[in-house]
Amino acid sequence: MAESKKWVYLFEEVAAAEKNAGSWEGVRGLLGGKGSGLADMTRAGVPVPPGFTVTTEACNEFRKTGQFPDGQWEQMLTALKVVETQAGKKFGDQSNPLLVSCRSGAKFSMPGMMNTILNIGLNDKVVEGMIKLTNNPRFVYDSYRRLIEMFGTTVFNFGDEVFEHPMSEIKARKGYKLDTEMTTDDWKALVGTFKEAFKKQAGFDFPQDVFKQMELATKAVFESWDGKKAVDYRRETKISDELGTAVNIVTMVFGNMGDDSGTGVAFTRNPSTGDKKMMGDYLLNAQGEDVVAGIRNTDQIENLIKTMPEAYHQFMQITGKLEKHYKDMQDVEFTIERGKLWMLQTRNAKRTAKAAIKIAIDMTNEGLISKEEAVLRVTPFDVDTLLHPQFDEKAMLAAEKSGAYYSIGVNASPGAAVGQVYFDADTAERMAKQEKQKVIMVRPFTKPDDVHGMIASQGVLTSEGGASSHAAVVARQFGIPCVVGASSIKVDVEKCRMSVDDKVVEAGGWISVDGTTGKVFIGRIPTVEAKIEEQTDLLILLGWADELAAREDIRILPDGRKAPGLQVWANADYPKDAQRARSYGARGIGLCRTEHMFFETERLPIVQKMILAETSEERTGYLNQLLPTQRKDFDGLFEAMNGYPVIIRLIDPPLHEFMPDEEKLFEEVVTMRVKGETKGLKEKEDLLASIKSLHESNPMMGLRGVRLSIAMPEIVEMQVRAIFEAAADCTKRGIVVKPEVMIPLTGTVKELEWIQPRLVRIANSVTEEKRVNFHYKFGTMIEIPRAAVTAGEIAKLAEFFSFGTNDLTQMTFGYSRDDAERNFLVTYVAEKILPSNPFQTLDREGVGKLMQMAINDGRKTRPELEVGICGEHGGDPDSIEWCHMIGNNYVSCSPFRVPIARLSAAHSALKFSGKKIAEDK
Ligand code: PEP
Ligand code: MG
Repeated sequence: MAESKKWVYLFEEVAAAEKNAGSWEGVRGLLGGKGSGLADMTRAGVPVPPGFTVTTEACNEFRKTGQFPDGQWEQMLTALKVVETQAGKKFGDQSNPLLVSCRSGAKFSMPGMMNTILNIGLNDKVVEGMIKLTNNPRFVYDSYRRLIEMFGTTVFNFGDEVFEHPMSEIKARKGYKLDTEMTTDDWKALVGTFKEAFKKQAGFDFPQDVFKQMELATKAVFESWDGKKAVDYRRETKISDELGTAVNIVTMVFGNMGDDSGTGVAFTRNPSTGDKKMMGDYLLNAQGEDVVAGIRNTDQIENLIKTMPEAYHQFMQITGKLEKHYKDMQDVEFTIERGKLWMLQTRNAKRTAKAAIKIAIDMTNEGLISKEEAVLRVTPFDVDTLLHPQFDEKAMLAAEKSGAYYSIGVNASPGAAVGQVYFDADTAERMAKQEKQKVIMVRPFTKPDDVHGMIASQGVLTSEGGASSHAAVVARQFGIPCVVGASSIKVDVEKCRMSVDDKVVEAGGWISVDGTTGKVFIGRIPTVEAKIEEQTDLLILLGWADELAAREDIRILPDGRKAPGLQVWANADYPKDAQRARSYGARGIGLCRTEHMFFETERLPIVQKMILAETSEERTGYLNQLLPTQRKDFDGLFEAMNGYPVIIRLIDPPLHEFMPDEEKLFEEVVTMRVKGETKGLKEKEDLLASIKSLHESNPMMGLRGVRLSIAMPEIVEMQVRAIFEAAADCTKRGIVVKPEVMIPLTGTVKELEWIQPRLVRIANSVTEEKRVNFHYKFGTMIEIPRAAVTAGEIAKLAEFFSFGTNDLTQMTFGYSRDDAERNFLVTYVAEKILPSNPFQTLDREGVGKLMQMAINDGRKTRPELEVGICGEHGGDPDSIEWCHMIGNNYVSCSPFRVPIARLSAAHSALKFSGKKIAEDK
């Protein structure tokens, strides 16, 4: 008969496991985190109680058939024999019994989600032997009742009350408060009661066959992988259901054998601050679960030196060794049995974002890990967490418990915001500026003319829209916490109130909005602030990240040239945003949306008149009024970014966005007509007619971007003049300017052929007029699939490409970026039709492929073509990785996401270091 597969590994068989699994990662998958840790500790000479691990592969076989796979049981019995020899005890033996625990252990830790059964191997006869051996009947009966109880509740799923009732009854009868008051006779009597309760519940006696105990316990641990708790936990933490759990059969050691015994848990550093100081708790004369359950007050680990100095020093020495071995903070469990220390578990400890960064830096300085490893250990999420004010976690949980939870939407811009709600931008701004209130602006959705209200607010909440809706984009850009698409909320703008069923919040009511989780609460939840300049550890780590990404040989271009990794630029519309971007480490401005400047209160009326102008001369007249202010805007940007490139995008949105709301105006006109009011009526009627003439059924695919520039070239001509005049003035003041003019929404090279030469002429005439010389570029956004497909042609004129992936995603999928989330995207993601929201995480197979094709074709025409991305994906780690792979020079994102992008750029550089850029076939 063919030899069966190896399902069982003794702790000392770690080398065999490594050989079979191919790598340490493979061993962790095969033996689970706990099993591989115990095996690895055994190899390192750390005192670990003898034992063996049944593999996750056996678990997965069991899950298919409900039976142990062929050979597993026999291998367990063989391994048990070895353990017996090592422990000098025998399983089921009356005179010198071996007891074991049966512990779950998956590849990724799932604390408390699966089963563990202790004290397996006790039965009525073994109990007698144990008593003789230990001379401690109290301890033996207590251990036996624990086994019966755990067996009943975890192997046979009896309710907790089956054993809790008799226990509380006995304590009440005797007048005890604590378990420690129970006498030997009490425990003995309770064992009898528990056995009866077991029989009543199960219909048969508690198994006296110790091998049956081991078999049933192993099956129960396997089954607990598919228990509800474990399944729910895996959903939350995105752990795959396919991994299965291993089972560890470990010799029992007892911390409850008197005052020279004890048990505890510890972290080798402080998991909340990262400080290099052991932190932990222990209990004398106790078993493991007593520490975790918190029934008795634990003692701090440093006090162990007083009671058991020898064990303490050994513990410190072992944990120091473990940290060095794993090169990471460890979370350990230990037991001291009659003065002898045993290590029961070690694993890399979970930690806060702050601790993660401090530990990574400290370990680098201690020579334990490299800078590369330090940068890889910190996640983009850690950085995100550190930079936004956060709700105090305890307070948030308390709020959830107290019924303050209100709704949930898309977590569009992270951070915590608390404020009083107002339902229109003007009121929001007024309340914030004049009344000095903290404001949350609530709208069904937002539009460009709501921006002033948003900027004045602590947070923004909308009931419609998705991750790249206007509200989301603007909020992220300004670092305003924002939740969009909270569709259970009905926003009644007219009545200035919102409601979820019968929970109504009126204007002025307080709410708390958590842009990190998407949750909304009624009332005020306390927050904790974050400031980058105070985050010295973070600044050091990001400095390392930049160094790594900037190495000259990170990528190999298709033509064989070497190139560095990604740079990080920022999207910034105003000088103060540019300053912030720079302080956050941006190396350029990748997108300045000039239209936002047109919305400023004193400029909007001129912009509207300019739009309504009937002749080119009239239009130019109004544009000349706007020129000085535009010049000043650009001046500030160049000054803030001295030495770095600044990409300024020419006007993009459809013109109706700058005009008063059509419906509102129509109502005003009708009301005036009904009331017979004539004063001002004609002007309003004319305005309404003009606005109507601007109406388009599909404005996002209408007269906008370069089409608008061709229809009304005067606007972009003014903008280019303002850019170059500002650049010339700055140059004269000694500022190094690198302007790059970006034409939006190009679909065919013919558009560029029409507009670009006119603009270049203006640029040249200004530099000649002003007698200055500086380097500049003209380029385009790639946001229409046709542009990506014909990129080789487009690159004949464009000196740079910037992927506008908000529009490119919208146009490639044919999903409206403002409505898709609300209507179907959430369902699509839930039903796994899409792996994730493509407006948040770049769709590599479709949109990403178009980008890749555009870069390669573009660079065939123009090898030095500069390529960036300025859509919302520029701040998303997964999308940044794709940009690295296909050869972008930089990514550009909101200033607040620059630190996250810097870390992600370094992660990509490390992951693909020295690799050739992917070429499309
Ligand atoms: C884009 O489409 O990705 C982009 C950056 O432009 P906007 O969001 O302003 O349309
Ligand atoms: Mg766009």
